[in-house]
Amino acid sequence: MKTKQLYINGEWIDSTGNDIADVLNPATEEVIANVPVGTADDIDTAVAAAKAAFPAWNATPIKERIALMEKFDEAINARKEEIADTIVAELGAGKKFAMDGQVGLPLSEIRATIDAVKEHDFEYMIENAQIIEEGYGVVACITPWNYPLLQIERKVVPALLAGNTAVLKPASNTPLTAIIYAEIMDEVGFPKGVFNLVTGSGSTTGDYLAGHEDVDVISFTGSTAVGTQMYEKAAHGIKQIVLELGGKSPLIYLKGGDLKAAVKQAINTVLNNQGQTCTALTRLLVPKDDLEETKQHILDFYETEVTVGDPTKDDIKVGPLVSADQRDTVMEYIEEGKAEGADILVGGNKIDGPGYFVEPTVFVNATNDMKISQEEIFGPVLTVLTYDTVEEAVEIGNDIVYGLSGAVVGPKDEAIEVARQLRTGNIIVNGAERVSSAPFGGYKQSGRGRENGIFGVKDYLEIKAIFI
Ligand code: NAP
Ligand code: MG
Repeated sequence: MKTKQLYINGEWIDSTGNDIADVLNPATEEVIANVPVGTADDIDTAVAAAKAAFPAWNATPIKERIALMEKFDEAINARKEEIADTIVAELGAGKKFAMDGQVGLPLSEIRATIDAVKEHDFEYMIENAQIIEEGYGVVACITPWNYPLLQIERKVVPALLAGNTAVLKPASNTPLTAIIYAEIMDEVGFPKGVFNLVTGSGSTTGDYLAGHEDVDVISFTGSTAVGTQMYEKAAHGIKQIVLELGGKSPLIYLKGGDLKAAVKQAINTVLNNQGQTCTALTRLLVPKDDLEETKQHILDFYETEVTVGDPTKDDIKVGPLVSADQRDTVMEYIEEGKAEGADILVGGNKIDGPGYFVEPTVFVNATNDMKISQEEIFGPVLTVLTYDTVEEAVEIGNDIVYGLSGAVVGPKDEAIEVARQLRTGNIIVNGAERVSSAPFGGYKQSGRGRENGIFGVKDYLEIKAIFI
């Protein structure tokens, strides 16, 4: 793996600086690689390469762009096991989840985006106007560590298909997946400068990239705090912006539904990937008089299905948090929850290392104004809340700054009615599958714009009308 260099203008080159950053395995705390910390000069070179490549790439017939992306799709499928192993090593995702949620899902999304683009008309007439949909220019892609492949693919694939060129700055915790991504882009033969990778720190490399005057689009996934800064940067130069930010999503269980299935659905989202998932259903809402039965289902599940430990082992469900910082943040929230007066039903403690492990934790007797109900913990922590009426459940569900995801379990028509009332971008009814061609993105402070399918492509398209 090309961990020592940056990928700029179709070549692997040295950084102009000497700084390197360690990449740790969070299960063992061992250093598994080190990567360059890209400098402002490196970003200047990458953005200049992307800018120079843009006119020709934007003018390349869409069929040719699709053909290259199909080659990429094939090539990345050929390396899927290596990518899953890399994600286990740099993120600590459980092996099975790495294969399905971390690699299988993005591969299906890449396919869905290519298929959506094949169906889309980029040029058409409205009366005497020739409408042309085309790229903006250079896209700065800044991605988080929680789904290293998915977060990159959701930006780079639609941006390039739409005719843009890209500079990627991946998360410091998980640059290795991004390096494999760049190796595949190189192998497939995209024209030089169309895709560039600069590893480095968010506060220096990422900050400089987002504010670069030759960047036309900022596409950012990460925390709402940094997303706000990205929005401010986009204001200078009126850049297009795509933001996929945090979440604190409710699962509302309605009487008459399958309570055991509801409990299982919520818990799986806070345990798979150690709860480091923006769509995790971290607030489980149940009717007050169903609380005791809910607790019993939770206890049964943790007793029979929850194992914590080495993520490379097939029978382990919960691995380590991504970093010591993340582990400490999660532990602070757990202590905060106890101090605010919520009760621990399961877990609640740090697990001694090596590795950044925390006991999977469930809070009951919490109220919606507590920090553990309002803030994104990004760890294996579930908060159970109760309600008296369905109206109150919807009110609690919506009483939050986020609006990324959600779920309802209950009699179908009633569940759909509740789903309509939730102010959130995605809602799953009775455990339904979320298809890769549908839009994904947040209401309120969970973001701006949508990813996936044709919706993801549209955020990267400028629109021109030529009157003839
Ligand atoms: P983060 O701290 O906001 O970082 C995200 C990315 O931005 C990383 O590449 C980071 O680099 C970079 N960055 C940090 N500060 C920056 C700055 N001042 N200027 C430019 N770039 C900067 O988020 P995270 O801790 O990695 O990820 C967790 C957050 O992402 C959670 O809030 C989660 O909900 C959100 N998320 C949202 C979605 C979604 O689709 N809505 C999906 C996944 C995650 P470094 O790694 O070097 O710090
Ligand atoms: Mg961070």
